[in-house]
Amino acid sequence: MSEKKWYTVSQFIIWLLIVPPGILYFLSNQMPEELNLLYFFLFVIFSVLTALLPIKLKGDPITLLMWVTIPAFLLYGIAIEMIAMQFASIASLFVSKGNLQSKIQRFFINSIMMFILSIISAGAFYLVGGQIGSMDFWSLLIAVSVYRLIHTTANIGFINFYLQLRGLKNPFTKKDIGYEYSTIVLILPLALTFYFLLNLIGASAFLLIGTPFFLTIFFIRLYGRSEKVNDLIKRTGEIGSSLSVLTDVDKVTEQFIAKTRELFYADTVFLFNNHDQWLELDKIHEKSRLANRNSSSIRLSEGIARMVLTTNEPVIYTKRNDFKQFSTVSVPDEIESVLCIPLTHNNKTGGILLLGSNRKSAFKDYQLKILELLGSYYIVALDKARYVQEALLRSERCALTNLYNYRYLEERLHYEMDRMEKRDIDDLSVVMLDIDRFKVVNDTYGHQSGNDILKGLAEVLKDALPENGTVGRYGGEEFIFLLPGFSKTDALKFAEQIRNTIKEHPFIIIPDLSPDKHEIVVNITTSIGVTSAPFDGDEAMALLRNADRALYIGAKQAGRDRVAAYAR
Ligand code: GH3
Ligand code: MG
Ligand code: MG
Repeated sequence: MSEKKWYTVSQFIIWLLIVPPGILYFLSNQMPEELNLLYFFLFVIFSVLTALLPIKLKGDPITLLMWVTIPAFLLYGIAIEMIAMQFASIASLFVSKGNLQSKIQRFFINSIMMFILSIISAGAFYLVGGQIGSMDFWSLLIAVSVYRLIHTTANIGFINFYLQLRGLKNPFTKKDIGYEYSTIVLILPLALTFYFLLNLIGASAFLLIGTPFFLTIFFIRLYGRSEKVNDLIKRTGEIGSSLSVLTDVDKVTEQFIAKTRELFYADTVFLFNNHDQWLELDKIHEKSRLANRNSSSIRLSEGIARMVLTTNEPVIYTKRNDFKQFSTVSVPDEIESVLCIPLTHNNKTGGILLLGSNRKSAFKDYQLKILELLGSYYIVALDKARYVQEALLRSERCALTNLYNYRYLEERLHYEMDRMEKRDIDDLSVVMLDIDRFKVVNDTYGHQSGNDILKGLAEVLKDALPENGTVGRYGGEEFIFLLPGFSKTDALKFAEQIRNTIKEHPFIIIPDLSPDKHEIVVNITTSIGVTSAPFDGDEAMALLRNADRALYIGAKQAGRDRVAAYAR
């Protein structure tokens, strides 16, 4: 048995030795002479209802239970009060957070504590002259005030003691304690009114006091919820606008996942991309970190996400048993609640978002709508980022070959020169190449075939590109390599290799000028100029001019199909 289980079992044993025999003792010794069973029944029901409907003041739960247990005590004494308290303890488990084991454990502790508190505060009540069944207002007020003060103080003291014993952090702030004491002002008048009214008009008092009490609780809870919803919507809007300014597709997704997790207290977030009706896991956040999962292992043909994709309807599961039959191996074992929505924009489902929580009933219906809102912000932000990224790409690339264009090459050249100035790199070489007699190729096979050869050449150049280098189309049939870290000797060697590679490469085209459209092989040669910084100069544009000169004077004029180094 694990340590945790032992702990629970030992608490159970202690509970068994204290609470049931204790209550039995008080039942047999302090049983009221005439117990109205209807009253007893209603006291228990009201206690349970109050425990089931906790309310919060600025996020902190406050205890109102004594509005029922004090009248029960004043009317029948400690035994009946104890029973009502114990039932309330059980009921509060249903609305508290945590898994079953921690709830059970908490019940034993709570139950023992409530039992002891009942004895201590009843003792204090008698000590200051309180009498069960008394109708004397002032003496009752004093005794009941002491009762409640002792109860609250001892309760806080016990919790402090218990947490310190277990080495846990104390969740009570000064503010919480303040709230706890200030509810006395609310509870005591209510409890006394209830008690006197019970004496005066009997069981109807339950109706007369209970109705406004529970209605008030109901409205406070409703208000609390709408406050929560308003707050969520506001935060969702803020997240939406923070996403919309991002221009990096990955950043948009990362931010979205991080913020969603935070907003919905999710333990796990799965984001799936929809590729023509099959899902690929894009990002996953679990155990406090973001990861890209190996997509091949996760491609789903089933599972919750698949089901949501098929029906295009969001789902909420409040406990594991409800979704066990749909989930796949990829859903972590700890997950108890699931909230899963399609990410839809313009009637197209771009993906599926799945939130998981280790708590039961972690997600509520109203959160679903807000998550959908957040999801639509995400999709729009993602579309925008994609568009910006593509536009940027288009402005940097040549449409025919998809290589970098003249503009980018110049920017990159300046960047590399900067690096050299900062001594990040020692050398920078430029290799410029131009196809020999390309006009003839065009004239022979047609302009379209010329284009195909340019595309083919772009592939050859990309394949030959050394690490950290850049290759681009400088102009019509002219290309440039920027080679950081390449000395002039290295660059000349590289140029010679690439010249040979191109010369040997069979370019396959279907000539658009010939009537019979069949493939033919065309070979081309290139002339290449090489220059290096700082060897040949240290100014960016001069480097390009030098490469050009080497190419035309050193290589073309010397007969083409050769490499020439720039010489002053
Ligand atoms: P050399 O460089 O060896 O002196 O001869 P060349 O015929 O290649 O030189 P020139 O600069 O006179 O001509 C370049 C030719 O390249 C002109 C044009 O027909 C062709 N060209 C330039 N850009 C493109 C293009 O985008 N597509 C096609 N198909 N041809 C192009
Ligand atoms: Mg040429
Ligand atoms: Mg040319």
